[in-house]
Amino acid sequence: MEKLQTFGTYLKKKYSQPVKKIPLAVGGFTCPNIDGTVAKGGCTFCLNDSFSPNLSKNRDKIFLNLSSGENPLLDKQIAQVVEQINETKLSFQKELGVASYLAYFQAFTNTYAPFETLKKLYDVALEQKDIIGLSIGTRSDSVEDEVLEYLSELSKTKEIWIEFGIQSVYDETLKRINRGHDVKNIEEAIKKAKSYGLNVCGHLIFGLPGEDQEMMLHSAKVAYEWGIDSVKFHPLYVVKNTILANEYMRGEFTPIELEEYLDTLVKAIDMMPKEILIQRVTAGIDDDSLLAPSWCGMPKNYLMGRIKQELAKAGYSY
Ligand code: SF4
Repeated sequence: MEKLQTFGTYLKKKYSQPVKKIPLAVGGFTCPNIDGTVAKGGCTFCLNDSFSPNLSKNRDKIFLNLSSGENPLLDKQIAQVVEQINETKLSFQKELGVASYLAYFQAFTNTYAPFETLKKLYDVALEQKDIIGLSIGTRSDSVEDEVLEYLSELSKTKEIWIEFGIQSVYDETLKRINRGHDVKNIEEAIKKAKSYGLNVCGHLIFGLPGEDQEMMLHSAKVAYEWGIDSVKFHPLYVVKNTILANEYMRGEFTPIELEEYLDTLVKAIDMMPKEILIQRVTAGIDDDSLLAPSWCGMPKNYLMGRIKQELAKAGYSY
């Protein structure tokens, strides 16, 4: 049985103790695909609240972008980062004992604000006790060179990861989900981040509209070839009050079945270079905002059990 390399085991080995990610949502952050800079409405599946547990309470009325001047929210944002880190750390400490953490800038586009704001917030996160690094979720069309340069500098002493949504390497799919950038843009951003020596995580979604398994696996193969260091696999699920929910209700989108997802996941892992670290093998949601497929609402333990079973059949332990 071959042991798959997960992000968690990599970090635990490197730091000799469990390292957990603390998800952060910063008020005033948005996304160029939502604020109208690239498009309005966002990706068809996006309802950011459902993807980020800390978001609802930190939502603001002012939003930043790359050309924002003064940032009246900065003190508030700093306080939010500190508070979220401390609150989440407490619950992890109760559960795990001693641990180190990555501050995970998760909600919206976490390089889409003036450089001075980003620098301050990244620094504040890193100054908190037991924070050993950062993981920064962003879009490929929203990362300025000076941010990459700064992260590269930080990576000399800290564990720094940048996470890009790849989703698919088909332009027609990216168009259909209103992604607001093309495949070339993702490839260039990943290669640029790598040229700065940064660790890159790529998100892939299986079950996107119009895609068959061959396309999903091709996206995985191309993402591996771009040099990602880590991967997150997700099924596409439909959340209420999204554009995708309307498409689903009109019968224009059929979600991926569990069996097909499992089969695609195992095949994608099978062809993955084994130095790539697996950060995630599925995603789901356990509240009534989930519209479909229902298996994405199954208890996490059950789903992970099924995934482990399928991987074991293919000779992998996860
Ligand atoms: S890039 Fe992310 S935050 Fe922006 S619309 Fe798409 S899913 Fe939502």
